[in-house]
Amino acid sequence: MRPYGESKLVRIADTVADFVAAAEQAMQEDTATSGWLSRVDAFLEQISWDRTWAAMMKLLDSAIATRDLEDKANLNGAIAGKQAPNVITREFVFDYLIVGAGFSGSVIAERLARESGKKVLVVDKRNHIGGNAYDHYDENGVLVHKYGPHIFHTNSREVFEYLSRFTKWRAYEHRVLASVDGQLVPIPINLDTINKLYGMNLNSFEAEEFFKSLAEPKEYIQTSEDVVISKVGRVLYEKFFKNYTRKQWGLDPSELDKSVIARIPTRTNRDDRYFTDTYQAMPLHGFTKMFENMLNHPNIKVMLNTDYREIEKAIPCREMVYSGPVDEFFEYRYGKLPYRSLDFKHETHNTEVFQSAPVINYPNEHLYTRVTEFKYLTGQEHSKTSIVYEFPKAEGDPYYPVPRPENQEVYKKYKALADATPGIHFVGRLATYKYYNMDQCVAQALATYKQIAVTA
Ligand code: FAD
Ligand code: UDP
Repeated sequence: MRPYGESKLVRIADTVADFVAAAEQAMQEDTATSGWLSRVDAFLEQISWDRTWAAMMKLLDSAIATRDLEDKANLNGAIAGKQAPNVITREFVFDYLIVGAGFSGSVIAERLARESGKKVLVVDKRNHIGGNAYDHYDENGVLVHKYGPHIFHTNSREVFEYLSRFTKWRAYEHRVLASVDGQLVPIPINLDTINKLYGMNLNSFEAEEFFKSLAEPKEYIQTSEDVVISKVGRVLYEKFFKNYTRKQWGLDPSELDKSVIARIPTRTNRDDRYFTDTYQAMPLHGFTKMFENMLNHPNIKVMLNTDYREIEKAIPCREMVYSGPVDEFFEYRYGKLPYRSLDFKHETHNTEVFQSAPVINYPNEHLYTRVTEFKYLTGQEHSKTSIVYEFPKAEGDPYYPVPRPENQEVYKKYKALADATPGIHFVGRLATYKYYNMDQCVAQALATYKQIAVTA
């Protein structure tokens, strides 16, 4: 508006009515005697993009010259012992500081080092790499996932081929049972689920009719409750989804975005796989081994047990890739974004097999949501077996962004800040506040790397 409005070269209107009035007035004013048009022409003649650009460049050049002088002064001071030794010079030891050694950080670190020849420092505040996908051998020698069951699946050939550079695979299709009405039945709900639950013998066609008879059609599917009730009705919703979701998220399904429960399909055939992706496999020697291979490059240094804030000033880097929580990065300027957390209760049992499926979900009993027996996932043979119970909670390590409209609104504000912060790239489940699976994090990280590589 400045200087156009102030110099009365244009009229400013706030509302539709004001706009119409202003346009009418402007048309009346545009006469040969008013001189409005010649004033506008005269003003526009003085400005041009070339002039604005030249002025900007002049400013930039003078800022760079000032900084060069300051750098020289600091360096002289440091040599003379007058400055702290970690004075920031323009010689960077690392090109990139990567915060977080999970999928998002590790993929970008690997690409920058191997593909672009950049020097990369990866820091993680935990004492291990791999982020939430970290696995390790427990004290009994059983391979377990510290942060709950991680099953790899993707439809992306690019993602699968990329990861295949760092691991061999073990074919594995995941299957889950749900404990409902005293029985263990397949989830996602399929033909066998309803036949077993209701003692019926329906075929696929009849199952479809059965679901239709229960479904309550909805014009707009907005919430997770709508998704299930519109497909299979209220009774199955309450048996399989309502209470599991309340436990997991601390919210009713009617308060959660439809995308949450839409992850779980309903089937009228006998397919009892949890996922139907083209590629379903587990890293043959575990996720951590795969991360080790990814990060094993002379240009990559890994620093564990370190919050990036402890070292960012001491070890200056040209740019940063950040995969921690986005609200934390901006010191909660727009308030806290809710992330759901979990307590994991790991146990080892002195028996070869503990339960009849890799994962059993408990929608209605117990405080935990599910129990995982790792040997099914890893294929390990061992005389003992290790399992984990998941107890959801609100506070603690951030594991799940909570998809609902009000959180999305807050995230949008952080996203605008992130977009306006030069030299820092935000990636992953926590920094982009997206309920991403591992393969989606890899895909996002590969895409971000490609963007960085254009200017790197
Ligand atoms: P993370 O793995 O969270 O890594 C971020 C890292 O940043 C962390 O290690 C953290 O310590 C570090 N960090 C944060 N702040 C700082 C800081 N200030 N300084 C230094 N370091 C910092 N996906 C699937 O595809 N299949 C599954 O079966 C599956 N199961 C899951 C089960 C559970 C219980 C959970 C919680 C997730 C599951 N996921 C699954 C999702 C999967 O874990 C994520 O998609 C993926 O691991 C996210 O990777 P990331 O690198 O974005 O984040
Ligand atoms: N869900 C449910 N009952 C189940 C399985 C899933 O209500 O038996 C809902 C629940 O809200 C859960 C969501 O579907 O959080 C997604 O399930 P998924 O197994 O994909 O969760 P994740 O493995 O990401 O924890």
